[in-house]
Amino acid sequence: MNVPMLLPQFLDRAVKLYGKKTAIIGEKHSYTYYEVNQRVNQLSRGLQEAGIEKGDRVGYLAPNTSEMYEGFYGVLQLGAVMVPLNTRLTPEDYLYILNHSGTKVLFVHHELVNQIEPVRNQLTAVEEIIVHGLEQDKDGLIAYEKWLDQFDTAAVDRPEMDENDLATLLYTSGTTGKPKGVMLSHRSNFLHALTSMHHLRVSDRDVLLHVLPMFHVNGWGSPFYYTANGATQVFLNKVMPAEIFRKMKEHGVSVMHMAPTVLNSLLQYAANEEEAVKTAQELRIVIAGSAPPPAFVKRVEEELNWEFIQVYGMTETSPLITTSMIRDTQAHLPNEEKYRLKAKAGYEFIGSEVKVVNENGDEVAHDSREIGEIVVRSNTVMEGYWNNPEETSHAIRNGWYHTGDMAVVDEEGNIEIADRKKDIIISGGENISSIEVEGVLYDHPAVLEAAVIAVPHEKWGETPQAVVVLREGHEASEDELITFARSRLAHFKAPTIIVFADELPKTGSGKIQKVHLRKEYWKDKGRLVN
Ligand code: ATP
Ligand code: MG
Repeated sequence: MNVPMLLPQFLDRAVKLYGKKTAIIGEKHSYTYYEVNQRVNQLSRGLQEAGIEKGDRVGYLAPNTSEMYEGFYGVLQLGAVMVPLNTRLTPEDYLYILNHSGTKVLFVHHELVNQIEPVRNQLTAVEEIIVHGLEQDKDGLIAYEKWLDQFDTAAVDRPEMDENDLATLLYTSGTTGKPKGVMLSHRSNFLHALTSMHHLRVSDRDVLLHVLPMFHVNGWGSPFYYTANGATQVFLNKVMPAEIFRKMKEHGVSVMHMAPTVLNSLLQYAANEEEAVKTAQELRIVIAGSAPPPAFVKRVEEELNWEFIQVYGMTETSPLITTSMIRDTQAHLPNEEKYRLKAKAGYEFIGSEVKVVNENGDEVAHDSREIGEIVVRSNTVMEGYWNNPEETSHAIRNGWYHTGDMAVVDEEGNIEIADRKKDIIISGGENISSIEVEGVLYDHPAVLEAAVIAVPHEKWGETPQAVVVLREGHEASEDELITFARSRLAHFKAPTIIVFADELPKTGSGKIQKVHLRKEYWKDKGRLVN
């Protein structure tokens, strides 16, 4: 008999095996698996009373909190669909996503209520707004703990569910345009969890600090696979270096997932705080978001003594599909070689077929340096974009999901990301990877952050321009940085313009939004992409 792959099984298993173990550590409360399951049941009963049925959408607008974790299981065991919202959007964005998804019940963290207030009376499907951290019901808003308290903790009757039923509806980061609603089934999330726990070596001894926002592809699915293994999960609702180091020390954190920009801020912090470095020596750090240069990997491993693991993926693929984690048979390699390998996106996850194809659809030859698009076929690829058949059929063609990411393949078959299709700079007919140029700039001691974009050029069509944020107390001139880049890159790849900025525009998960930079620096010249 086939048993459907359903996400609530993960919590069921944890309660059975690890009932008395600390499951989640929130800002104010900690709960064992047994206790959190009781709260999850209360939540499901409350949702039933609010009229939520199988297939209905339930939204969450919250930073990483234990209350949001409860949502994953409380919503999913009813066969309802979890819609986590990025906390850094504008009220207009929330209006768009909530109406587009037809969200019926919305949970909001009390500090974010003001983001919903201006558009509240335009929400077409939302029937109830339940607020985490609100003491008393107020202005039609329902106080979460009081509301939860009314309901029984006993197990709820689950509806008949199929593994292909929709589990989560996730709106993409919007790095390159308007967010799209990615539909992931129980089966996709489930298989993603199984492969991730294998590739990331998740165990019941793990203590995960949730740094990566859970609204971002369910925190890469971590509420699923760390639960299935009975790990302890610590929540952090403000991502600040001092706070991260404090939590690491307090709870003996063994693993964190994050974007490179956040890891960069931890490196900066630790450079001035020797004590911080001593806090967690057994730590694995898992990153994705943009391709880091080997020098960055080396700094993390040698200055912080943390194991660096790169993964690659996107909302549409649940998300992770490759990793450059060093295999056991590569353990003997010299460190420098390991850093070089870890700076790549690496090899495919079990269950995903990943190829790099050129414009004719042929796979690029290994070690040819030919750039092609990454395409993937996998059980973890989305069902499609919600109410958007046009974008869906553009993205999934002949059974392959087209990622829009460009890459080369090395002699061993490792994938190395060159750039997003939209970010590649075409100068005098040559492709320039903005990531490669950024990697060189990051090697300059005065550079804290750098983003390289195309700007129009009379003779070459486009030319690379870098927008640079300098480290505090450091100086560097435009000429100096251009000369530095030219000393390490082919001449045509080096930026011809450097602009200094105080900060760079970023998405909720910490990714640099080049689309905004391009808008600013292209002004009315109107590049065709985006
Ligand atoms: P949108 O699709 O709305 O423009 P987005 O693509 O940034 O936003 P996500 O799905 O969160 O939304 O991000 C996935 C993208 O992040 C990938 O397609 C890729 O461009 C980039 N990325 C992820 N991991 C890596 C990595 N290890 N190296 C380089 N780039 C990465
Ligand atoms: Mg994308």
